[in-house]
Parts: sequence; structure tokens; C-alpha cells
Amino acid sequence: MPRAPAVPACDVAIVGGGMVGASLALALGTLPLDVVVIEAASPDGGPQPSFDTRTTALSNGSRRIFAGLGVWDEIARAATPIRRIHVSDRGRFGSAVIDAAEQGIAALGYVVENRVIGEALWRRLRAASRVALRAPARVTAVTTGDATTRLTIEGPDAGLLDARLVVAADGAESLVRRAAGVGALHWDYDQTALISQITAERFHDHVAYERFTPGGALALLPAPEGRIGLVWTLPPAEALRVLALEPAPFLAELQQCFGWRLGRFRSAGARHGYPLALTRADAPHAPRTAIIGNAAQGMHPIAGQGFNVGLRDAATLAEVLADLGAADPGGPAPLAHYALWRHDDRRALIAFTDGLVRLFASPFAPVRLARGLGLLLFDLTPAAKSALSRLSLGFATRLPRLARGLPLVAPAAAVARP
Ligand SMILES: Cc1cc2nc3c(=O)[nH]c(=O)nc-3n(C[C@H](O)[C@H](O)[C@H](O)COP(=O)(O)OP(=O)(O)OC[C@H]3O[C@@H](n4cnc5c(N)ncnc54)[C@H](O)[C@@H]3O)c2cc1C
Repeated sequence: MPRAPAVPACDVAIVGGGMVGASLALALGTLPLDVVVIEAASPDGGPQPSFDTRTTALSNGSRRIFAGLGVWDEIARAATPIRRIHVSDRGRFGSAVIDAAEQGIAALGYVVENRVIGEALWRRLRAASRVALRAPARVTAVTTGDATTRLTIEGPDAGLLDARLVVAADGAESLVRRAAGVGALHWDYDQTALISQITAERFHDHVAYERFTPGGALALLPAPEGRIGLVWTLPPAEALRVLALEPAPFLAELQQCFGWRLGRFRSAGARHGYPLALTRADAPHAPRTAIIGNAAQGMHPIAGQGFNVGLRDAATLAEVLADLGAADPGGPAPLAHYALWRHDDRRALIAFTDGLVRLFASPFAPVRLARGLGLLLFDLTPAAKSALSRLSLGFATRLPRLARGLPLVAPAAAVARP
């Protein structure tokens, strides 16, 4: 009787080649592991849900991780440094400024289009000899066994794949997370983020503006060629109305909300809406499964932290696999280690971001007064500012080597525990 063909196997299968999954693949590409990335979107153009027209504010920790992965030079060519952050509350007295020079750093962060990040990551991935890319291909079923997990893949290159470790990098609605039996808290903020690129009469001068209004938060990020990345959070019905406005009335409403710090708004590019929710996986791991990026925690963009946290997930998992994954990358020891290490950073950033959304959404007068006083006090307190500017490094008790500007693989004797 003819025998059934053997199922292909790999050490690590990464489901989702978005910004976080692709970053992890690049890090693992330097280790003695066979890695497969399965990504539903086509790599040759067309809509890509992760690398779209949004801009992302990268923290200094993310800059170091990208430098360690060899993609920062390419990304930096299209990145705009943030030299100052100006926070204000519409119609209230409080405002605050955080200045990079005062904090002794070159920039508080860097604004880059997601498309630029995606292109840089995938270009380099194509040259990684031990990373196989399967795209467009969609994982439709996951069955966990003792020694491996079996994936069912659909698309032009359909079939089964066995992996010793499966990484869920498939976004907030993660199929892999659900298949692994990991529950997730889902909280709908009942808000939509409207994004666009705009131009204004005055140069942004590398200042990022965060303005809180009764309808929601407004972020204006300095972008290349004098453009400004807009993230405007609105109630869903209001967002639909504003999305449908002609350019002139759209810019007039934006002007009314933001004011005249940048002079008159002149033009707006394409507008898109993103419904906002908090998703928090009950745990960042399960047998033979690691959960990273939005699959582990999807956050409100108010503090610009979602991707930065996801990239720390990727850098931490890569380091754990470099140090402890040689015998079995999906074994209980590396996975428990990964979960323990990510615990504080995940928990603190989710609480911080969610708290900020609730604080600035409150119409309750005493809260609004306290908020104004808080901003005023914050503006007068150097220690608070330097604590906030350090936020860009996260809350982990120990940063992964890549985020500290060190190589992923440490000399054997230097391997430490968090
Ligand atoms: C408006 C807005 C502004 C933001 N601004 C910032 C910011 O300034 N700074 C910041 O740090 N963060 C920001 N974020 C958050 C950031 O965009 C996300 O955290 C980040 O995109 C998460 O990346 P990811 O790769 O984990 O997930 P995703 O981007 O969701 O990617 C998941 C990938 O998995 C693929 N996939 C899904 N299911 C399957 C399957 N079954 N099989 C194969 N492939 C699959 C998808 O095609 C996709 O490519 C913002 C978010 C929004 C909405």
C-alpha cells in the first residue's frame, strides 16, 4: 500500500507576517532554526492590513530593535524625528510640553509610514536563508499535539505543516490564539480612529500634538516632506459623518477642533476609519504556542504604544529562543520564560493606555478640572516628564538585548535571566 506523503515540518511557524510577525521572523532568521511565515495578504501589492497608509510613532527602543535587525537605515530615510510633544485639553487651561533636548535625547520617537516598515522588513526577509515565506496563504485550522502543532494552510500553496512552536502574530482576532484555547478580554471603546495625511500653512517643526477634545483625542504627528499624520478619535457615527465630508468642510472642522498652532490646514489625503477596542489575551502562551503583537494585546492608539509593545514581544521571544530554545523551541521552559518576562510590561502598558482613554474621555466636571491641573503640574515637574519619556522603553524589569542596542545572540557565558 502506498504510504501517505510526510507532512513538511519546521522549528517555528509564524502565523501572520504583519509588522510584528515579520520583525520576529527577521530576528529568528539569525538563529539555527527553520522558520516558516504564513501571511494571508499578497506580498506583491494589494491591500495589506498591517502595512497600510497609517503612520506609526516608533519609540527609541523600537529604533534600536530595528537597527539590530538591520532595517533601521532603510526605515530612517523615511522617518521623521519627534523633537517635542505638546499635550493640551481643548477649552481648558492646562497644557504640557515634553522636549527631547531637555531629556538629553535626540528624539522622543520617530514617525514612519507602516508601508515603509513593511517593505523594509519583507525585503530583508526574502534574503534570509532559513526563513520560508508563504504568502498569500491563510492558516484555517490548528491542532496541538505533544511534540508539534499541525497547521492547515489554504491558498495557492495549500497543505499541512507541522511546527514545534507556532507563533500567533495574526492580529487582534487571532485564530491561533483561539485554537490554542486562550481566552481574551475584548472591550469595545465605541470610538473610531480617523486617519489621514494633511498639510498646513506652518511647518510642523518636529512637534507631535496630542489634543483632548470632548469628542475624543486628536493626534497630529510630524511626517516627511512637511506632511502631518492625523489620528482623530471620534464616536463611530460622528466618524462616519466626518469621513464623508468634502475636503474643505473636513479641514474646517479639524481646524475648529485643533486650533491655529499650525496655521491654516491646506489639504487632506485619503481618509480611513479604524474601530477601536482593547483586546488582552489571558496569557501570552499556551502549549506549543507563543502569542505576540496585537494577538496578545491590541490597544487604543492614544499613546502610540501598540506596535512598540508588540515589537518588544518579538525581541523578547527571539532572545528566549536564542538562549533556551535550541533543544525544543516550543517546549514548556522557553514558553514559561517568555510569559514571565512579558508579564509586567504588558500589564502596565495596557493599564496606562486604557486609563488615559478613560481619563480624557470623561465629561465629568471635577475630572476635567483635575485633568487640567494634572497637565499644568506635569508641565512644571521635570521628574514626571522624564518618567514619561522613558515610557518609550516599556515597563519590563529587563529589556531584551535588541532593545538595548546589543546583538540578539549573547556570548554563552553572558546569558542571564530576567
Ligand atoms: C489608527 C491607529 C494608529 C496606530 N498608531 C500607532 C503608533 O503610533 N505607534 C504604535 O506603536 N502603534 C500604533 N498602532 C497600533 C499598531 O498599528 C498595531 O499594534 C500593529 O499594527 C500590530 O501589528 P501585528 O503585526 O501584531 O498585527 P496586525 O497588524 O493585525 O497584523 C496581523 C497580520 O496577520 C495576518 N493574518 C491574520 N490572520 C491570518 C491567518 N489566519 N493566516 C495568515 N495570516 C493571517 C494579516 O494579514 C496581517 O498581516 C496604531 C493602531 C491604529 C488602529
